Parts: sequence; structure tokens; C-alpha cells
Amino acid sequence: MPGFELFGDNERKQVQDVLDSGVLMRYGFDGNRQGHWKAKELEAALAERMQTKHVHLLSSGTAALTVALASAGIGAGDEVIMPTFTFVASFESILAIGAVPILVDVDDTLTLNPKMVEEAITERTKVVMPVHMCGSMADLAALKSTCTKHGLLLLEDACQAIGGSYQGKPLGSIGDLGCFSFDYVKTITCGEGGALITNNELYYENAHKYSDHGHDHLGSDRGAEQHPFLGYNFRISELNAAVGLAQVQRLNEFLEIQKRNYTILREVLSSIPEVTFRRVPEGGVENYSFLNFFLPTEEITRKVYENLGASGVDACFYWYDNNWHYYRKWEHLTNLKSLGKLPQEVVDALPDYTNADFSSSDHWIGRTISCLVKLGWTEDEVHQRAERMAGVIKEVV
Ligand SMILES: *Cc1c(COP(=O)(O)O)cnc(C)c1O
Repeated sequence: MPGFELFGDNERKQVQDVLDSGVLMRYGFDGNRQGHWKAKELEAALAERMQTKHVHLLSSGTAALTVALASAGIGAGDEVIMPTFTFVASFESILAIGAVPILVDVDDTLTLNPKMVEEAITERTKVVMPVHMCGSMADLAALKSTCTKHGLLLLEDACQAIGGSYQGKPLGSIGDLGCFSFDYVKTITCGEGGALITNNELYYENAHKYSDHGHDHLGSDRGAEQHPFLGYNFRISELNAAVGLAQVQRLNEFLEIQKRNYTILREVLSSIPEVTFRRVPEGGVENYSFLNFFLPTEEITRKVYENLGASGVDACFYWYDNNWHYYRKWEHLTNLKSLGKLPQEVVDALPDYTNADFSSSDHWIGRTISCLVKLGWTEDEVHQRAERMAGVIKEVV
């Protein structure tokens, strides 16, 4: 997955442009910038690639999620449905605006179970936030129809699945809002960065203002601009955007490499009857950033994971025991360990996750192994890796 594996001359050139002009900020300083608008150019490139009207870059994927929620008017006490399997950024962004994260089980797609989403809806629910984990997507048709039926917003977290598609549309572009991360380990990177995409003009207008202290971005004198509402600073810098501009031009090339490597691994593992693969919803195309598979029991899965590591097969993950990506280790959320006092709406409305039953998530995540698909591997290296993985698995099952 990580785009940093393939930095080249174009990344250097784009960054050098910014250093040469000395304008590291995305707004203003028109006279000095020698025509360089890296953030704007990256937004235009993403809008085209994602077939979406509006794109706004932010300082991170977490910032993108936070700004997406804020731009749609989500606030204190509103409930946002999110999966038990995701990165901590999901509930961080929800809590940041005083909203309440409602955890819902995942199924064999490793993303939100649409039936469980339906059951979790209350009169306070405002948003359903599926997370397209590890390169593949949620059942967006089902979630979209639930959102339409109940008047809810669909916000796609496509941070780990950029370039994947569903029924012919790029992931991120199907919901009311979509978010990407360009942090250092994502498929394309800015070092740090993120983006929000939407076809909704109001959300876009709110987003660029909110993420820049409420600046209305009208006229050419920044200091004289008005502030129609309260904002914050989630801006990306031109240096970061410059790296992303070089990377986005290579997205399709990266996806091709990931697909080649993924396909080799998958074909070899498919010969083992005990190995089954994560379900991809009908009409979905993965971005191939991970190969995700199930083994028959939790015990076997843990053993295979340990043996893979011991045999030098790196870059595999057993999320069930992971500190950052699965609800079981989120005791800082469960016990509400915040530095300062949280909004009363959150304290009052957060479910007691110490007693929650997420056994249907455990059923799948306890048996899942995900292997990162790297860009830098040669075809030979992938074949060797596949054989070594198959050997380890066959020894245990
Ligand atoms: C990386 C990631 C984020 C957050 O992105 P940052 O840029 O690191 O803040 C959010 N959601 C998912 C699923 C991610 O993988």
C-alpha cells in the first residue's frame, strides 16, 4: 500500500517548486508564488479522478472526517453509526464535534453489517459512517437505501481504499461525503494530509471555511475576509500538497502493481481449502492494498499469525489483538479517558461499551488475517512470499 515506497523525481520537483517560490501556504501571497497552487491542483486532480464536483484538502484523514461531519451540521448529541473494526480516527472525529459514536458490528465484508445498522438507528441518529477497511468496501447499496429511508447522511471513510470502486463509481464518491487520508502509510501520501469529496455545494462551502478559521475566502485580501461562522484550522500546507500532486498522478500505476501482487498471493492461498476470503459486495472492485482471508478458528488464526511472523513473513496483521483497529482494545473510549471534561451530551448518551455484545464481529475478526500488499516487491519476491505463507498455513490447519 504505501506510496512512499515509490518516491521519485516528480515528488522532488513538485516540492522544489514550492521551496523555490517560498510560499508554503495554500492561500494568498499570489504575487510571490510564481503560479504554483499545489493544493488547488491536487484538488482538481482528485475531483477528476473521483468524478466528484468538489474536493477540499485537509491536514489529515482524521481532519477530513471531522470537517465532513461539521460541514453537514452534525454536532453535540447527534449519533453517528460506525463499525467496530476501523481506525481510532472514526470515533475521534465524532467525539471532536461533541457527537456520539455508536459502534455497530461488521460482517464477512469486514465492514458495517447493514442489518445491524438498521437496528441501531434511533431518533438521534444523523450519520452512517462505513469504513472501507483494508482495500474493500461496505455494502453501499444496502446502506444507501437505509440512509434514504431514514433521512440519514452517508459518509464514506475511504482512507484505506482509494482507487477502489463500487458499481462503477470511485469509493468515496457514492455517499453524501467521502474522506481520504494521505498520511505516510497510505496508498498515496502527502506525508500528512487528507481530503473530503462531495457533490453537495453547501457542504463544500462549509468545509473550506470551517477548516480555515471560518474565512469566507471572498476577495483578495485575507485579512479583510469575513467569518460567517466559527471555524478551526485544519489546513494542509503547500509542501504536503506538492508531494500528493506527484503521487496522485501515479495512483493507477500503484493500483496495477497492487493488483498484480495481490493476485499472485491470492491464487496460491486459494489452493488451501481451509482458507476463505473476505466477501466483496456485488459490483465492488477492491484497491488491492491488502489481502484479507479467514481461517477456520480463532486458535488456528492466532497460531498462523505467530508462525508467519516467526518465518519472516512481515506486514501481516491479526486485527483481533491490535491496539488501534478493533474495539476490544479501545479502553480509552470505553472508559472515556479524556484529558478534560467531555461534553455532557457525550457522557449522557454514549452506550456502555464495557458490556457490549459484539460477538458477531468477533466471529469474523477473530479469524481474519490481513496482509499488506507492498508496491516495492518484485514478482519473484511475491511468489516466494506466497509459497512461504502457504507453507506456514498448511502446517497449522
Ligand atoms: C489512516 C486512516 C484514517 C486517518 O487518517 P490520518 O491521515 O492518519 O489522520 C482514518 N480512517 C482510516 C480507516 C484510516 O486508515
